[in-house]
Amino acid sequence: MYRDLERVSARYGAVTAPEILPHNPLCPDIVTGRVNLPGLELIFLLPLTYPATPPVVLVTADGHDTEQIATGVWRLDLPPDERLLHALEPFLEAGAEPYHKAFGPMGGPALTSDSNRAEIAGWQPIYTGRDPAVAAETIRQGLFARSTGILANSLTDRRVLVVGAGSGGGHTAEQLVRSGVGGIVLIDPDEVEPANLSRTVYNAADTGRTKVRALARRLLSINPLLDLTLYPADVRDLNTNTLLELISRTDLVMAATDDLQAQRLLGHASYAQGKPMIAGGLYAGARGGEIILSVPERTACYHCATRARSQAETTVGEVSRTTDYGTGRLVGEMALGVDIQHVAGASVKMALALLLAGRSEARLATFLESQIAAGATYAVFSMSEDFWFFPRIFDHVPGQYAWQCVWMHVERQADCPVCGDPAGRMDPRQVVPRPPKIEDILSAMGGSDSTASVNQSMEATF
Ligand SMILES: [Zn+2]
Repeated sequence: MYRDLERVSARYGAVTAPEILPHNPLCPDIVTGRVNLPGLELIFLLPLTYPATPPVVLVTADGHDTEQIATGVWRLDLPPDERLLHALEPFLEAGAEPYHKAFGPMGGPALTSDSNRAEIAGWQPIYTGRDPAVAAETIRQGLFARSTGILANSLTDRRVLVVGAGSGGGHTAEQLVRSGVGGIVLIDPDEVEPANLSRTVYNAADTGRTKVRALARRLLSINPLLDLTLYPADVRDLNTNTLLELISRTDLVMAATDDLQAQRLLGHASYAQGKPMIAGGLYAGARGGEIILSVPERTACYHCATRARSQAETTVGEVSRTTDYGTGRLVGEMALGVDIQHVAGASVKMALALLLAGRSEARLATFLESQIAAGATYAVFSMSEDFWFFPRIFDHVPGQYAWQCVWMHVERQADCPVCGDPAGRMDPRQVVPRPPKIEDILSAMGGSDSTASVNQSMEATF
């Protein structure tokens, strides 16, 4: 028994020899041992059945209350003199500094001293003799180890607003973080459901959690130092001033909602704030997808791009998805996760290019220059052969099957309330982000039939 306490003392650098404390007559079957580490006292309540059964372990870090370590698995298959050390391993981390309370993933290193961050990440307490920030920084630096020359460490200072944490938004946020982007703001109102697991970044343990919390947990496991802000809300329910303020503090907006009005609101707000936006989505049946790029004052806006799509649909046939008139959101589409990732992956590469453009020598910094200079800001992807207008373009070109991409030129419309002539632009605060219900308007109008007024209100939402 005493030898085991000596082993603990040696492993974790005790300053004095372990002690067996005087018997407590109220607990005759318990032997109490104490190990003093720098900054940390460990009390072991050892039952007479020890080491067949585990002890209770109490820890007191300097300046903190006493806590019990949940000793986890007590491995009876190990030799008796190894069991205590093994049980302590996940909760005690040896180091050169005085021990203090930090947090980290089960079986991993301590990565933060911030209990709020640990709670979001789902990390457990670890008493460590190291600085958790050093381990976290090592992990963050590792994110750039395989992208030197293509990306740049300056991505650490970039902040991206990701709206929509479903299949597209989840993959987008994860790849941005894996690429080294240092700050993510997430907005999504939904919870993870079992149906989401087939094509998102979530797993069974996430079901019932809000998507922003589940995604935050995943992102912190990739970059423990990630600057995170979470809004478990519908972006259309945010105060427009709040949204504009959020956008002003980010470098790029990724619009990945399944709600066209939300996409338009984001397109308008980001353009007004002078921030680029990338909007990705899939077409009906996931036979194709699109990415719309918008760089304020250099390209047309999201609104002009979708207007161009509508015009194309009148001549070449419809590809857009249908809208659920009850919720205003797009009807859930049967789609393969890989097809969603195909579009999400392309949008991430564009996002990284925009984040680096003009600020870095990295190879990806100029990736979008020719498209932006040409005003070709609308990329259409095919997931199937002979998609939409593609046969008209690629007719007689050999070797053209699925996974083609066409960049379409988008004109800025002079009368566009977002990117048109400055005098005619509309302030996003003047736009109703969510159309009022017809009953509410009728009741506000005194119950009269006022179709004209309803149409006017709807128009303000674009
Ligand atoms: Zn426009």
